[in-house]
Amino acid sequence: MKIRRTQVEALLAHARSGYPFEVCGVLLGRDATVEKAQAVLNRETESPRVRYQIAPEDLLQIQRESRDEGLEIVGFYHSHPDHPARPSETDRRIAAGGLSDGVLHVVVGVEKGERATPTAWIFRDATQAFDEEPFEVE
Ligand SMILES: [Zn+2]
Repeated sequence: MKIRRTQVEALLAHARSGYPFEVCGVLLGRDATVEKAQAVLNRETESPRVRYQIAPEDLLQIQRESRDEGLEIVGFYHSHPDHPARPSETDRRIAAGGLSDGVLHVVVGVEKGERATPTAWIFRDATQAFDEEPFEVE
């Protein structure tokens, strides 16, 4: 998985500015490259410090807009405020419950609102787990 440097910077800035709450967004790309990290409002109202939720209508709108640019949704990103930069058991359970095979997930750990660390993962139905992906910035 490759991701444009400007887009990595955008999603790290988003993760820091949203601290201490989780932020989320959609990764848009073509082939194996993420061309755009699009911020989406976290719709989680009960526990937004440890959960995120992307509304289906937000997703549909992004899908429509990005199609015109020749991009498709290749994955998602979200932050973990003061939690490790890897998928949680909740993330795994949600992915396992949906159509997630081969979907890219970028998880950004944010320490004290400052240090933001991105990691990339791909969910596999076969193992019901995330495999870590090399995070290649270009
Ligand atoms: Zn998570």
